[in-house]
Amino acid sequence: MEDKKQKKFVKEITSKEEDFSQWYTDVILKTDMVDYAPVRGCMVIKPYGYGVWEGIKDVTDRRFKETGHKNAYFPLLIPENFLQKEADHFEGFAPEVLWVTHGGSEKLSERLFIRPTSETIICTMYSKWIKSYRDLPVLMNQWCNVIRWEKTTRPFLRTAEFLWQEGHTVHETYDEAQEETLQMLEIYREVAEDELAMPVILGEKSIGERFAGADKTYTMEAMMYDGKALQAGTSHNLGQNFAKMFNIQFLDRDGKLKYGWSTSWGISTRLIGGIIMVHGDNRGLKMPPRIAPIQVVVLPIASHKEGVMDKAYELFTQLKEDFRVELDDREGYSAGWKFNEWEMKGVPLRLEIGPRDIEKNQVTAVRRDTLEKFTLPLEGLNEKIAEILDDIHDTMFKIAANHRDENTHESIDYDEIKEMAKGIPGFIKTMWCGSEECEEKLKSDTGLTIRCIPFEQKHLGDNCPICGKEAKHMVYIAKAY
Ligand code: AMP
Ligand code: ZN
Repeated sequence: MEDKKQKKFVKEITSKEEDFSQWYTDVILKTDMVDYAPVRGCMVIKPYGYGVWEGIKDVTDRRFKETGHKNAYFPLLIPENFLQKEADHFEGFAPEVLWVTHGGSEKLSERLFIRPTSETIICTMYSKWIKSYRDLPVLMNQWCNVIRWEKTTRPFLRTAEFLWQEGHTVHETYDEAQEETLQMLEIYREVAEDELAMPVILGEKSIGERFAGADKTYTMEAMMYDGKALQAGTSHNLGQNFAKMFNIQFLDRDGKLKYGWSTSWGISTRLIGGIIMVHGDNRGLKMPPRIAPIQVVVLPIASHKEGVMDKAYELFTQLKEDFRVELDDREGYSAGWKFNEWEMKGVPLRLEIGPRDIEKNQVTAVRRDTLEKFTLPLEGLNEKIAEILDDIHDTMFKIAANHRDENTHESIDYDEIKEMAKGIPGFIKTMWCGSEECEEKLKSDTGLTIRCIPFEQKHLGDNCPICGKEAKHMVYIAKAY
């Protein structure tokens, strides 16, 4: 009977091989990560989903602070004329901007827009604050929400309102700004790979994918389980573009007035979608242990038997010192039902404690990543669990990296590329001449986009497969979310 119930519970998730998109929707709703909001493209992030964001925030914010950045907060509403100051920026963002036109029933004398990103307001403030080289560098970050009125949306991956951090810095020299841009990309890589177990490719964006108003955009790209790419974080060298338009000038050491060099960089709640689509399986989520809202769940078995609950509480108290742990002492649910639920939620390690375990001074453990079941002595348990969580992280990273490598191909034959693009080809490494025409042609012919010009280059051939002219770079192309 219990077996049947269990099966039914699991069955409610569509198999990801069958319909990946439906699998994603099933998983995020069934695990209580999010719910749809009344406004199109918006979402309610429920405590379990928000817990993941808090985990990401913690591990990222710590790195920002270690590298000298400080958090601040700038307003949500920005006057219309600010957006018009930087032409490229305006052109890039205008189609996605949400406007505020009225206060009560009164029409505003100047329209306000809700930030899609905050360069315009922050640069305006910086121009007031920065006077001399002594004021530089300025290294600020804010954690906030932004709104981009996107046409197609998907919870976490692309929403109209999303949570993110945006760093904004100003420097004395180009070199310093460039160093900062790359440093922040490296921090994002660490967060993705060392905290989320999500392997990424680092590189520069092509012109067509560059941030509006930036000189250079760098990106980390991850492969999802279905072979599509996800732009998981970006870091921009803005050159002097914004400094000139917003008049950020400083008196340099040589007594001359100069424009500052600025950068901006961001990651968002999209990363949560990435975690789900990289690691999840047909049983549900698999949370990377270092950011998992719940790292360990303790399940008392035969809890009515004498001593079981006492021992479970004792265990819980001991584990709480080192881990994010939950004791599932809910009544009225079978053990099987609970196993399924925690599995679906992707808690990395489940510990069961029952009369037999107590007798033997042990717990029974089940790893979510491998579903391996084993016993652990109570003696030295916390140290052992720390090791297991590290091992789960490493195993999850390896599986994701292998999956990506197996689905990465090389081709410099345009007909072959077009053929591959009829399905989801994974990542294709190819050569590119550097022209926008070829980038656009590729997109309209195949639906594939240039994900990045990776730092790690390989010479696959002399010519651009699209136009036949001399190739400048090796690029990754893929279908993207
Ligand atoms: P950007 O300022 O455009 O470089 O965006 C910074 C990061 O925010 C991107 O690299 C994405 O990971 C993320 N992002 C951009 N647009 C959205 C969106 N509509 N929903 C969620 N995340 C987004
Ligand atoms: Zn070309």
